[in-house]
Amino acid sequence: MCTACNTFLDRLIDRGLLIETGVDGLYGRSGAFESVIDGFDAAISRIGGGDGAEVIRFPPGMNRALFEKSGYLKSFPNLAGTIHAFGGDDAAHAGLVERLAKGEDWTQHQALTDVVLAPAACYPLYPVVAKRGPLPPQGRLFDLNSYCFRHEPSKDPARLQMFRMREYVRVGTPEQVTEFRQTWLDRGQALVGSLGLPFHLDVANDPFFGRAGRLLANNQRDQRLKFELLVPIDSEEKPTACLSFNYHQDHFGALWGIRTSGEETAHTACVGFGMERVALALFKHHGLETARWPDDVRRALWG
Ligand code: 5GP
Ligand code: ZN
Repeated sequence: MCTACNTFLDRLIDRGLLIETGVDGLYGRSGAFESVIDGFDAAISRIGGGDGAEVIRFPPGMNRALFEKSGYLKSFPNLAGTIHAFGGDDAAHAGLVERLAKGEDWTQHQALTDVVLAPAACYPLYPVVAKRGPLPPQGRLFDLNSYCFRHEPSKDPARLQMFRMREYVRVGTPEQVTEFRQTWLDRGQALVGSLGLPFHLDVANDPFFGRAGRLLANNQRDQRLKFELLVPIDSEEKPTACLSFNYHQDHFGALWGIRTSGEETAHTACVGFGMERVALALFKHHGLETARWPDDVRRALWG
């Protein structure tokens, strides 16, 4: 037992499940941790794999121009991560090296690149769908998984700056999309129940920025557009959203010009699985040694 471990994060690091990098919310993961992620990933596929989703794996960086158009900077400017690179000449380089050696600000010639970090797995998808033209009558279904970035450093191990999000995304008519979300609300609860975790569902809102953001958040709640499946990880009082079920109505369809086969604006919905959060919930509730987890939980993960 680690005597200096006061928090769950301390215990995870002491056990080597997470590896410190010196930045809050940025950790290495051990083999044992990754085997839990892999098991959960496979458990999701066992449930959703028969639906015929098209698998796409985007890199964690996305097209900046498309990101700018997505509206993310209007709603979450504080969370976005942009990638910069040195754009100067020889003299500028000499200055950079000198300032670096003195511990001074060296970023004067860093310029925005064409790449930003994806804030959610589905952001790069919508323009791709739009480019394909009108949807087939049955709409489309996608299976995504990506590292995502959100600038929100924290000592809570369930609030990471870089984490993986698996998603299924449905694009189609309002009926197709709302049916998809209801199906996953049911499936998600069954899945997390099979892992022996306590949970409850609640209406939720995204953390829209600023005063105008409060209106957007209230509207999202009032219309019940976002549900979260919450599991106590860091505290009982403030359980953590491990799965999210989002109905965007025609927001992305209108923004990107996605049309149904009937030439209506498409609706979209996504279910997001917080891979690290579920792994952390399992370590929290079943202990830090996976070999000692209940048999039915081990079977649900690893077959
Ligand atoms: P949302 O887009 O609903 O905020 O996030 C989708 C899912 O990603 C959430 O249900 C959650 O499981 C996961 N997620 C969101 N923020 C974080 C975070 O800071 N750390 C981790 N590990 N997962 C997150
Ligand atoms: Zn999404």
